[in-house]
Amino acid sequence: MQLWQAYHIARSVEEAISILGAHAGEAQIIAGGTDLMIDLQFGEHRREQPLAALVDVTRIPEMTRIEQQGDHLLVGAAVTHTQIVKSSLIEQRATCLVESCGVVGGPQVRNVGTLGGNVAHALPAGDGTTSLMALDAEADVAWGDGRREWLPIARLYRGPGQSALDTHRDVLVAFRFLATREREGTAFKRIMRPQGVALPVLACAVWVRLDEAKERYENARVCIGPVGPVPARATTIEEALIGAPVSDETLDRVVAVAYQTIEPRTSKYRATAEYRSYMVETLLRQALPLAVERARTGIARAEGVGLG
Ligand SMILES: Cc1cc2nc3c(=O)[nH]c(=O)nc-3n(C[C@H](O)[C@H](O)[C@H](O)COP(=O)(O)OP(=O)(O)OC[C@H]3O[C@@H](n4cnc5c(N)ncnc54)[C@H](O)[C@@H]3O)c2cc1C
Repeated sequence: MQLWQAYHIARSVEEAISILGAHAGEAQIIAGGTDLMIDLQFGEHRREQPLAALVDVTRIPEMTRIEQQGDHLLVGAAVTHTQIVKSSLIEQRATCLVESCGVVGGPQVRNVGTLGGNVAHALPAGDGTTSLMALDAEADVAWGDGRREWLPIARLYRGPGQSALDTHRDVLVAFRFLATREREGTAFKRIMRPQGVALPVLACAVWVRLDEAKERYENARVCIGPVGPVPARATTIEEALIGAPVSDETLDRVVAVAYQTIEPRTSKYRATAEYRSYMVETLLRQALPLAVERARTGIARAEGVGLG
């Protein structure tokens, strides 16, 4: 069946919004197409009639940038996972994002799939999403009604696969987050079925800042997903870390807090809640010490990238 009638390559955000608006809900944004093509053919919202148009946002200069702007890193929503993996700037200053984008699908998916598509698709298991949450990222959104604003990415999620964005009208333009500084480090780890090239069984991203002596957690952000219907920070774990010494005892206490407060769901395709619960411990014991090591040494080389 024909899935769309016209294919537009937008050259600016304004042009994309204008084409979408002209089709009044009958056109949709396409980036890498790795999620959209499956949705259009097999998804629960597949249509009887072809879409009037697809609006390709991957050639919009504003959406394909990776830049440092003051203390922030800015990553365009149409930047591919492969481009993120190859960015030494992101590897140094937001290592967890390279580690998460580096395990999305296989090389073919990473070469075209974008960070914006990962967020707009709104799955709580999206690997890029998990790291963006730990980085406390904000999204630059151009709404179809002409408004443009930065907002915390958590506000883009309404439920599994349900975004606050109407991808027939609104454009996710870019993400920004503070680059890691001295005494700060990040790490991302995930559990995946050995043969898998799709969403993870469970993933965990952490960001830590150590005190002057590099002996205590001064601040921490942790995101584990999928746990609930939308991505969320693991605030109970963060509270257990902040002010605590960097030690095996703290790690044990944090793991105990995780068993008491993190309640993953059973997924018929991926894993039981019980298995995921055990894996929270495994991921925390891998990711936290790695982030601490990076914060202490200032050396951040992404691990596991490209291995799936
Ligand atoms: C084989 C396979 C393996 C995969 N493995 C993983 C994995 O390991 N981890 C993981 O997280 N994901 C995985 N995915 C999912 C997918 O590849 C990623 O989510 C990818 O980042 C989606 O990006 P895209 O550019 O292809 O999005 P598209 O498919 O182009 O778009 C997805 C949705 O977002 C909308 N959209 C895209 N860009 C924008 C924008 N800038 N503004 C507004 N709306 C937009 C589209 O309209 C569509 O609704 C996998 C997919 C496949 C097919």
